[in-house]
Amino acid sequence: MERRSPPATSQPAGKVAAIGHEPAAATKPSPASPSSPTSPAPRPPRPKRGVPEGLWQKCDGCQQTIYRKEAEEILNVCPKCGFHWYVSAATRIEQLCDAGTFEEWDAGLRPTDPLGFRDKKPYAERLVAEQKRTGLSDAALTGTGMIRARRVACGVTDSSFIMGSMGSVVGERLTRLIERATPQKLPLIIISASGGGARMHEGILSLMQMAKVSAALARYSQAGGVFISVLTNPTMGGVAASFASLGDLCFAEPRALIGFAGPRTIKATIRVELPKGFQTSEFLLEHGFVDRIVARKDLKSEIARAIDYCSR
Ligand SMILES: [Zn+2]
Repeated sequence: MERRSPPATSQPAGKVAAIGHEPAAATKPSPASPSSPTSPAPRPPRPKRGVPEGLWQKCDGCQQTIYRKEAEEILNVCPKCGFHWYVSAATRIEQLCDAGTFEEWDAGLRPTDPLGFRDKKPYAERLVAEQKRTGLSDAALTGTGMIRARRVACGVTDSSFIMGSMGSVVGERLTRLIERATPQKLPLIIISASGGGARMHEGILSLMQMAKVSAALARYSQAGGVFISVLTNPTMGGVAASFASLGDLCFAEPRALIGFAGPRTIKATIRVELPKGFQTSEFLLEHGFVDRIVARKDLKSEIARAIDYCSR
C-alpha cells in the first residue's frame, strides 16, 4: 500500500489544484450565472483534485493528519494517540454484533414536523437533507442481534444526524426497544453518540422523550433486566440526562466528551474555572459516574462478559 507523508502531499496538492483551475473559471463563466458586464460572475465551487477526498483525516485527539485506512483497520481509532473517532450507527452495529445477526426494529417510523419549525431552513427540509446525507431515517437505529452468541436488544444513536439529538422517532424507537426487551428478558445495550440532547425542532414532543424512555427503563429494571449503557464521544444534553446515565453498568469509550451543558456554558453561568479534564470519560470514572472505560476493540468482549456476570 502506498503511504505518503500527509503534510507534504495534502497542502501543496490543494494549492496546485486551485491555481490550475483558475484560468478555466475565468474564461468559461458558468451558464447559470447572471450576465452582468461590470460584476464578475460568481465562480462555481472548485472540484477538489490531487488527494482523493477522505484519504486523510485530521485527528481531534492529537491534531495530526492520519491515513484514514490505517485508523479504519483498528475500528476507527487513531493509530497515533488512540483517540476514538466517530463511527456511524451502521458501522457500530457491525462492530458490536456477530456478523449477519442484527435485525432492525421499527425501521418504518419516520420523523414529522409537528411544529412547522424553521431555523436556518425549515425542519422538514433539514430532515430530508439529513436522511439523504446519512442514509438514516433518524438519529437512532434499534433492533436485536447477537453479541458473542448472546441475544441482546441493542440501540445506537448517530451523532451525524442532527447531532444525534433525541426527537420523537429516537425516543419512540428506544422505548419500543426497551418494551420488547422486557418480556423477552433480553439484555439491553444502548450506545450513545449524541452531541445534541432533546431536538429543539420538535419542542416539547422532543423533551417528553426523556421521561418516556426513562419510564420504560424503570419498568425494564423492575422486571429484572440488565441495561448496559455505553457512552461515546459525544454524549451530551438530554441524552446524557436520561437513558445514557441510567445503565446498570455505564461503560465509556476513552476520552469521550460526556456531560449535560457544554463547558463554555457552565463556565459562563457559574463563573468558576473548570477542573482539568472536566466532562471526559476519565474524569467521570474518577467521580463515580462511569463504571468502566472500555476501548473500542474490547467493547464486544466486555459487554458479553458483563451480560454473563449479571445473569448469574
Ligand atoms: Zn490522534
